[in-house]
Amino acid sequence: MENLTISEKVKFLKKGFQDKKNFTLKQRLFHLDLLEKAIISREKEIQEALQNDFNKPHFETFLSEIFPVLDEIKHFKKNLRFYMQPERVKTPLFLLPASGKKYAEPKGTVLIIGAWNYPINLTLIPLVGAIAGGNTVLLKPSEIAVNSSKIVNDIISSIFPSDVVQIIEGDGVITTEILQNEFDHIFYTGSTQVGKIIYQKAAEKLTPVTLELGGKSPAIFHDSAKLKRCVKRLLWGKFLNGGQTCVAPDYALIPKSLKSSFLSICKDEIKFYLTENENSVIVNQKHFDRITALLNGNHEVHFGGDFNRETRYISPTIVEIFDTEDLLMSEEIFGPILPVYFYDSESDIARFYNKNPNPLSLYIFSDSKAFTEKIIENFPSGGVLINDVIMHLAHANLPFGGRGFSGFGNYHGEASFQTFTHTKSVMKQVNWIDPNFRYRPYTEKKTNFLKKLIALIHKF
Ligand code: NAD
Repeated sequence: MENLTISEKVKFLKKGFQDKKNFTLKQRLFHLDLLEKAIISREKEIQEALQNDFNKPHFETFLSEIFPVLDEIKHFKKNLRFYMQPERVKTPLFLLPASGKKYAEPKGTVLIIGAWNYPINLTLIPLVGAIAGGNTVLLKPSEIAVNSSKIVNDIISSIFPSDVVQIIEGDGVITTEILQNEFDHIFYTGSTQVGKIIYQKAAEKLTPVTLELGGKSPAIFHDSAKLKRCVKRLLWGKFLNGGQTCVAPDYALIPKSLKSSFLSICKDEIKFYLTENENSVIVNQKHFDRITALLNGNHEVHFGGDFNRETRYISPTIVEIFDTEDLLMSEEIFGPILPVYFYDSESDIARFYNKNPNPLSLYIFSDSKAFTEKIIENFPSGGVLINDVIMHLAHANLPFGGRGFSGFGNYHGEASFQTFTHTKSVMKQVNWIDPNFRYRPYTEKKTNFLKKLIALIHKF
């Protein structure tokens, strides 16, 4: 397989789809089982790969990479049988006695392009959905997390038949070459900038796409929030993975009245995050330089602010900003820096939100139902989590995805199954009756009958 060209590999996968190599429930469960066993048996190697890539602590690798994939597999082992069953739907009165069903038809051969920041999670969770959907799959992990890409390659190549799942490692140039081929769906996770390229390429062949992109997810506090608990959660989510999380709380908006309590809680909490060897470092020098340059603004660093270019370490940092024009508000930070704005009125929230609308996630810290509802209603986002951060991704019954610049389409659990299948409508007509009124010649009598029938059904 190593010596095959990209298009030969794709041909193999297409043949595998035609030959129904991952079609029946039994086949799909078998392939999910192979993946589950491989992940469990190679847990240590996966943890070491991520540690080598960006010093990700083993605990975080287990919590945010290994466990979510195993949990997704478990979800499908339990539910796939039901998802695959054709779903009977109600038939409108005027079509009776016909009947209708929805079939979940596998899409075909799909391409999954992963990002580096959760290199196991973001390649294997879509893979689980694609297999569960009955597809054959080409996987392209990110080249930036080199060791993780290699272990994913080792796992995939050693367990899957080459006409069911294949993997190609490489950068944007390789991805461009891959995109010359025709796929039945493209599932992309990564930056908005590259997302636009993928979307254009897909449009040339009218290929459906899912774009899981990034953005600036705000954490909006209300003065009713249980401050200590909420700040603890906020900091955990911000500094997880060295801040390199697509749904990390990017910036926080805190009522001015809570400023001194907020800072004093941060002072107590931040000490748990300052142990250098327990923090992920920034993945490469380019991102390190980009992130540290954001600190050159007119703001006040309250905690942290230390960095070392050689080791690519940036200490967990909390910065007070004074307006929406601060450098830290100019782009997704994707690093362990939390800008905080202490707001006077709710119009400040709108100002900050409107600077970067449609975030991937929006976090509300509040015990006030009225405030929470108002924020949900007025500020569109991919998803919302109330009184916590990031954990909504673990809820298999909640679809995960963005809107606007944070992407479109969604996945996880049943949403993944829907993404990787086509809903085929099937209506069945009976043969024991065939009312004549719809056929030619169209007489006045037939028109009157049709109108009466419709009036009866719709109670005009
Ligand atoms: P990236 O866009 O640089 O890379 C993602 C993938 O695209 C990689 O596999 C890469 O090889 C490929 N690629 C790079 N340049 C390409 C090109 N010119 N043509 C075709 N393919 C190309 O993204 P990244 O730096 O790996 O990830 C960081 C971004 O991803 C952040 O914005 C983050 O918020 C976002 N993200 C989103 C999610 C989500 O679930 N929505 C998850 C993780 C990361």
